[in-house]
Amino acid sequence: MGMNSRVDMDIGVDVQTLFLTNAMILIVMGLAFYAAWRKQPDETYWPAWIGANFVIAGSLFSYMAFPGNEPSFGLALPNSLLVLGFGLRWTASRLFARRRVPMSLIVVPTLVVALMFGLPGWIDYPLAYYTVNAILMLFAAATAWEFYTDRETGLPSRYGLLIAYGVMALSFAGRIVQGINAHTAETAHLVFDSVLQIHLLIAVIHTTASGAFVLSVAYERMARDLRHAAMHDALTGLPNRRAFEQRLEKALQDRGHFALVVFDLDHFKSINDRYGHAAGDEALRRCALLCPSVLRQQDFVARVGGEEFAAILPGVTPTEAFMLTDGVRSTVAATRIAADDVSFGLTLSAGIAHSAEGEASFDRLMRAADANLYRAKNGGRNRIAETAAA
Ligand code: GH3
Ligand code: MG
Ligand code: MG
Repeated sequence: MGMNSRVDMDIGVDVQTLFLTNAMILIVMGLAFYAAWRKQPDETYWPAWIGANFVIAGSLFSYMAFPGNEPSFGLALPNSLLVLGFGLRWTASRLFARRRVPMSLIVVPTLVVALMFGLPGWIDYPLAYYTVNAILMLFAAATAWEFYTDRETGLPSRYGLLIAYGVMALSFAGRIVQGINAHTAETAHLVFDSVLQIHLLIAVIHTTASGAFVLSVAYERMARDLRHAAMHDALTGLPNRRAFEQRLEKALQDRGHFALVVFDLDHFKSINDRYGHAAGDEALRRCALLCPSVLRQQDFVARVGGEEFAAILPGVTPTEAFMLTDGVRSTVAATRIAADDVSFGLTLSAGIAHSAEGEASFDRLMRAADANLYRAKNGGRNRIAETAAA
């Protein structure tokens, strides 16, 4: 920041006030980030966002404290802090997207800017001015880019961040254009003109908007992850019993024909006993992959109990339901599970119940499927039993 040649206009806002306002918003937002970090202590992007806000606030306070214009400590400190702060913001956006952060891309520009302003005579002021604004523009644009390329769904607030950082990048670009237009001899004078005033006004709005959207995008992701965890099984990744019950209720409301299938692995207790619990878990994961791969795209598979799975097969005739279920049965029976140093086979039994339009209820259908499963077990396991349920 900093350079301009003359006072051309004044839009009536005091630059020192804008620095102070911006610094205070940064601190308030930083404290809000800290509160969020307390609730999500494992999220490494929080310390990066917090650090960025306090470093940039420090930069703004030192602009206020050293209004001098010569390349010197008084410009080296605020400019290098500003570069470090925007580098940390980019870092935070990378961490939020679970991407790697090349630390040298933050440390090197910070040191270069510190030396450019701190070593008088090394680089003349206009070049230092262009360089610092170009680095800030690139960091802001890269941060916007992170939120643009993040393909995660269900996070609308990342568009707020995309705009907030995109506008900030344009504002830094505007400072460079201004410098080029005014590259006269008196460029070493930091004049508080209208362009700087507008730039700082944009920065105040940017700080407020980006802080709010950083909080809301993190909230959106947490809410989405909790929603997913509430509906899915951690071992297999399949929908859980709760998700299954909701889906079954909905299938009944929709009043279409569907088949309900319950699967139960055979003699699973003895598999655990013989090969170990970890091998049993591996068998469950394999079955969780096999079931949906044998069934159709539109079929819904859930893990509804320890070693019990259930499927809803919409629009099937009894013959189709039997064929699909038998496909699962025979595929599992033909699969060998390899876990650590053991290898074993396993089978499952299944019970099928059919919804009959208007007559099936949740409980009746579940009872019918369970009764058929019981018959399949009693009939010798590794088999399927079915009846049309009312
Ligand atoms: P059946 O053929 O009659 O179904 O016999 P079974 O041994 O499979 O039946 P039972 O319901 O008595 O035993 C189920 C076993 O599944 C009991 C439990 O140890 C095991 N089990 C349940 N959940 C898990 C799990 O998450 N991991 C592992 N490894 N085992 C589990
Ligand atoms: Mg069981
Ligand atoms: Mg079992």
